[in-house]
Amino acid sequence: MEDIKTMSFEEMYLSPEIAKAIKDMGFEEATPIQSQAISLIRAGRDVLGQSQTGTGKTAAFGIPCIEMIDEHDRNLQAVILAPTRELAIQICEEFRKLLKYKDSIKVVPIYGGQPIDRQIMALKRGVQVVVGTPGRVMDHMDRRTLKMETVKIVILDEADEMLDMGFREDIETILGKMPAKRQTVLFSATMPPGILSLTKEFQLEPEHVKVVRKELTAPLIDQHYYEVNERSKTEALSRIIDMQNPSLSLVFCNTKRRVDEVVERLQGRGYFAEALHGDLKQAQRDMVMKKFRNGTLEILVATDVAARGIDVDDIDIVVNYDLPQDEEYYIHRIGRTARAGRSGKAFTFVVGKEVYKLRDISRYTNAKIQKGKLPTLSDIEEAKASKFLEKVKSLVDEGQLSKYVNLAERLVGDEYSAMDVAAALIKMNLYDENAMEIEEVSYSDKPRRSSEQRGRSHQPEQGMVRLYLNIGKANRIMAKDVVGAIAGETGVPGKLIGAIDIFDEFTFVDIPREYAHTVLDGMKNKKVKGNKVNVQKAAGDQMRKPQSKSFSRDHHKDGKDKGRKKFFGFMG
Ligand code: ADP
Ligand code: MG
Repeated sequence: MEDIKTMSFEEMYLSPEIAKAIKDMGFEEATPIQSQAISLIRAGRDVLGQSQTGTGKTAAFGIPCIEMIDEHDRNLQAVILAPTRELAIQICEEFRKLLKYKDSIKVVPIYGGQPIDRQIMALKRGVQVVVGTPGRVMDHMDRRTLKMETVKIVILDEADEMLDMGFREDIETILGKMPAKRQTVLFSATMPPGILSLTKEFQLEPEHVKVVRKELTAPLIDQHYYEVNERSKTEALSRIIDMQNPSLSLVFCNTKRRVDEVVERLQGRGYFAEALHGDLKQAQRDMVMKKFRNGTLEILVATDVAARGIDVDDIDIVVNYDLPQDEEYYIHRIGRTARAGRSGKAFTFVVGKEVYKLRDISRYTNAKIQKGKLPTLSDIEEAKASKFLEKVKSLVDEGQLSKYVNLAERLVGDEYSAMDVAAALIKMNLYDENAMEIEEVSYSDKPRRSSEQRGRSHQPEQGMVRLYLNIGKANRIMAKDVVGAIAGETGVPGKLIGAIDIFDEFTFVDIPREYAHTVLDGMKNKKVKGNKVNVQKAAGDQMRKPQSKSFSRDHHKDGKDKGRKKFFGFMG
């Protein structure tokens, strides 16, 4: 298929009420799938439409569907089938927006989980359009509360998904009950064999409308990939989130079990994360989505199927925690960000040979997926520090600080300079927080397991203190570099330096207790093999002051910098 010229809605000669509603919705011109599908459907053709998520398929069938309805006829005229309740509701809402100036046409959503009596009442009042999930539609057909004899058009939205969910038989039954001369429209993101056989069975000379791939991947999505190993994925994810500081993130895994695992790990690290997958009850899903929409939940971890129903336009980043199995899924996943003209970022983890598969995806989707380097802890610290300083500046610019100036005057004087006081306040805000995070990331998760795998205890030997360095294999660090740097910068004899454990992003080194402070002080602002290094006592070491954790938790003030802080706020 060649490039598609997009049309303006004026060129389509829509009825004035619909045209006005579309304008109110803020649509300036039709999307490619709309440009092609609307006139075909309106002309009565059976259409098989294919385009990625977020390309406006709802209006592509909604607009012509509404145009075809006789508003003076109170009989059921159009049936839209959708795989999930969320999607049915979304479609219904979009129809109601389109019907803003034509409200004599009634649309009702029909889905499982809602009391059937209420739906029966609504249907009895006379509706021309029903949007429903196949199971519940069948149910109403059996009760004769839905009569298909007068239906002129049936639309299957996300047909591939409905087949995946096992609705094939229901769909066949429903379509079988409809008048033979009805129009059948099918929208699907992918075209597996099941769809093609459905087409053969139920469509008459269907027109296949497919949006060319070139236009599929949004240029507004900044796409990166990281080569990681399985064990470091959670750490990598945390760093990306800390660095990007997104308001809403969507993380994809390939299975439900993986989703639960990742949620557990993220929660363990203090993030506000929850799962969305097919095993959840409808009420749970609604709850999760509600939290995600109102921002109390920042990280949604989902399977591909469950994510289809997500109707949130301001997702900042999408992370492919697992590489998707199918190229189309990649497009779908990243298409959840950068919607409605916004920009967005997509991050993909690849393990080992998966990098070849990613190359295929990139070729297939025409996407430029750049290799990224994971932020180091000092990058994250730096990002946080800059943000904090920016915030201080804007508070100063805003003024209205007189009350606090009075307090400051009590501190600043002969003994403490303004600079000392400012520095101490900054430390209170930044430093302890970072110390806590290093503790969270370094010891609790993979290093411990990894040390144990190698038959070593994670505790340093008697008389030694374990130090943490925020550089590792990723910085091409080897043991001799660590020994060289410590000996060279601090004068601690190399032969006294104990075990060194180098991980991808960080390193542990054991130092005799009496030299610990020499090393901590001596390594400040120093570099190892060109990398600025931050050395801290490793978390879990007995030298650590036990109160530092709770202290830092109470000092998270920056409301914009969410995630673990809010979480700890609740823990109180
Ligand atoms: P799909 O079903 O293909 O995933 P949707 O129908 O859900 O896509 O539309 C995605 C978003 O794009 C929605 O917010 C919708 O309101 C918006 N949209 C649809 N058509 C247009 C258009 N012509 N111009 C601008 N925005 C549009
Ligand atoms: Mg859709």
